[in-house]
This record gives sequence, C-alpha cells and structure tokens, in this order.
Amino acid sequence: MSLLLPSRIIEKKRGGGELTPEELQGIFEGFLAGDVPDYQMAALLMAIHFRGMGPAELDTLLDLMIRSGAILDLSHLPGPRVDKHSTGGVGDKTSLVLAPLAAELGLFVPMMSGRGLGHTAGTLDKLEAIPGFKTGLSLDAFRSVLEDVGVAMIGQTEEIAPLDRRLYALRDATATVPSIPLIAASILSKKLAEGIQGLVLDVKCGSGSFLPEPDDSRQLALTMTSLGNGRGVRTAALLTGMDAPLGRAVGNGLETREALECLAGNGPRDLTDLSSALTGEMLYLGGLAQSPEEGMRRAREALQEGRAIPRMIRLVERQGGNPSVVEDPGLIPMAPEQDVLTANVSGFVREIEPVALGYGVVEMGGGRRRMEDPVDLRVGFVLSVSPGDWVERGDPLGEIHAADADGLEWGRQTLRRAVVLGPGAPPPRPSLIRERIPAFH
Ligand code: URA
Repeated sequence: MSLLLPSRIIEKKRGGGELTPEELQGIFEGFLAGDVPDYQMAALLMAIHFRGMGPAELDTLLDLMIRSGAILDLSHLPGPRVDKHSTGGVGDKTSLVLAPLAAELGLFVPMMSGRGLGHTAGTLDKLEAIPGFKTGLSLDAFRSVLEDVGVAMIGQTEEIAPLDRRLYALRDATATVPSIPLIAASILSKKLAEGIQGLVLDVKCGSGSFLPEPDDSRQLALTMTSLGNGRGVRTAALLTGMDAPLGRAVGNGLETREALECLAGNGPRDLTDLSSALTGEMLYLGGLAQSPEEGMRRAREALQEGRAIPRMIRLVERQGGNPSVVEDPGLIPMAPEQDVLTANVSGFVREIEPVALGYGVVEMGGGRRRMEDPVDLRVGFVLSVSPGDWVERGDPLGEIHAADADGLEWGRQTLRRAVVLGPGAPPPRPSLIRERIPAFH
C-alpha cells in the first residue's frame, strides 16, 4: 500500500498528473482489499475519465487488473483458443450467437463477459434470461464445461479478473464508462486472463457507442490491438457501426430470444452478417480458415443450417439452464405488459436512436441504477422498422415489453422519441463493418 493518501492520488490525476506504478498499485490494490472505499475509487475513475492515462499508466493498470486474479492455463486443450469481445452497443447479442458457432467450427471459446454497462445490456444478463443458466461457475467447472462443450460463458469471478468485476460495477453506476484507458484495461484484463491465443475485438463507433467520435473509437481499437498483440495474443479488431440498434430486439430476454432465432438461421440480416464476420475473424486467427472471408463464409453457412444449435443446447444444459429454451425461445419469461406503438404520421424512418432505447430499458428496470440493483430481464423493445423504411400512419413501429403500466407508458414515450420519422429519405447507411485492423503477427 502506498504511503500516499488516496485523496492525494485522486488530486494528482484530477490535475492531469501522471500516476507512478506505486501510486496506481497502492490505490487499486487498496480498493480490492477494501481499504479504499467506493467513493474514492469513483472519484479517481472520474478523474481518469477526464484526464486520461499515458501509455505507461495504462500498462501498469492492465498488469494490476490481470494479476488481481488467476491467469488460466488452457494449453492442454486440443484446439486453438480464441475469443471475441465488444466495446458495447445497443441490441448487440452477437456473443450468444458466435460463441457456440465458433465452437461448432472447431475453436475453443473460453468466454468471460460482463453485465449491462451504461446504456448497453451485457452478455451475462442475457444468458441469465435462460431459466436456470448460471454464469458464476467456479474455475474448475468453467474448465470442465469448456473441455466437454468447446465453449463456456461466465462473468468475472473472485478468481479471474476480480478487479475488473469491482470496477465494472462501479463504472456502470457512476457514468465513468466512456474512457479509452478504462475500457481497454477492462476488456483486456478479462481476455488476457483467459489463456487465449487469439482475440477479435468488435469496436463500436457511432452514436450508440461509448465513444461516438470516429477518431476515439479508432484510437481505442489501436490501443487494444497494440496491447493484446504486445502481450502475445493475436488481436484483431473490426470497427463496426452502432448508429442504430443491432437487430430488432433491445432488452435482455428479448435479445436472447433473437440470438437463439439467429442460431437457428432466422436472424435479422445485420445480426447474421456481423456474427458471421466476427466468427470468420476468429477462425482465421485460430488458423482454421485461410482468410477472414473464408471463415465468414463457413460461419454463415453453419448459421443458415442451424448447425450450432446442438452445441448451444449442450452449453445451456452444462451451465444449469433449461435446454428446451434453445429450440423454443418462447419459453423465455415475457413481461406482463405489452403494447405495439404505431406511427402517428407517415414518413421515412430517418433514425432509430440507440442510446434513448438503451437507457429506456434501464429506466424500465432492465438495467441498474445502483450497483446492487436486481434487473428485470423481461423488459425492452422489439422494433418493427429499420432506418430508411417508409411507414404509413398507423403502421407498427415496435413492441414495448414492461413490468407494469408505468413502465409501459415510459416505454411508449421512449420509443416515440427514439424512432425519428420525417418526410425525406435518410442518406444511405454506411456498411456495418467500417474498418478492419489485423493482428500484428
Ligand atoms: N466491455 C467491457 O468489458 N468493459 C468496458 O469497459 C466496456 C465494454
């Protein structure tokens, strides 16, 4: 523990100073040990959010976060170990599609994910929408599922990446998510502790991402690929558009249903395309495809044929969930109050504002106001339209799923605000995949 007071360290960062390895170690290890309270850590995170971190500080923070727990040795597995992580978007349920798909195509996928963060929903909450599914496995159980099924999906534990677990929950509740060093250290600490050989990062850009400015999301992608490759994990990134929700469903359980439909070959086009592209990159990094394009083709075929469904059934079964849900997503519990919002004028759908919908779900109980809040996994929206569509007055814009009448009314207002109608056609949308940053070696 540093002799410096936490308040002095916070003050130094607040003033734009560069923290020494000893100062970083003192305050972050003190936080994990319970000596530095949440309020001081929240203040430091806010100072980092505004002041940033230099490369040496980020390197030290990443080391501290990785070494806060165990680093898995999975070298005994008889195949390449590759994972994917997204920087967070609205409606982004690709992990639920591509993890079993990549395993079906020959990779081992030891996936450690997060919960809802800011306006985005998290993979763990979505998985827990499957009745009985457990994301808090012990390390031994995690290894055993991975060995048997080729894929296992858990959260940060007290054993792996515990510092990220604590910081992640605090950042979610204190508006300190959008920070290049904090996002990079959070993502890479989990992923580098997984004992993987390859990593594909889906770095979101656009209004629904944490870093809407294209230069910032590109900088985040370059920072993470450089750190990952520098530490011996072949790390590539796709910069992908997040100007509208991905797919049609927004909200944990609704997104899980849509992901399962996608696994059965019936997903919306953008979700199918992105899941196939990311899986293609994973196969290429793992040496199982000659090129990302070949990998993508194989992934798309497997998705269309529903070939990953049996693997998803085994995964759900092994992690304690009801496997029947995989072939019958209608078994996922639904919210008691539902309504369809219709267009009050005719016009083009000029925009579907992802942040409004994402925070709408949080406000309706589908995210956390405080770290310890339970989440209502049933609430959310299912869109009936996409940007660029023409709608007549009275046409459906989307469904609202809420826990009670107040939530339903909130949902109606949110959806009305989020789906922007206008007389002129919007400009054509750029392609979903904006840029590819290959692995360095
Ligand atoms: N995903 C993470 O795991 N951490 C972040 O900070 C953002 C997205």
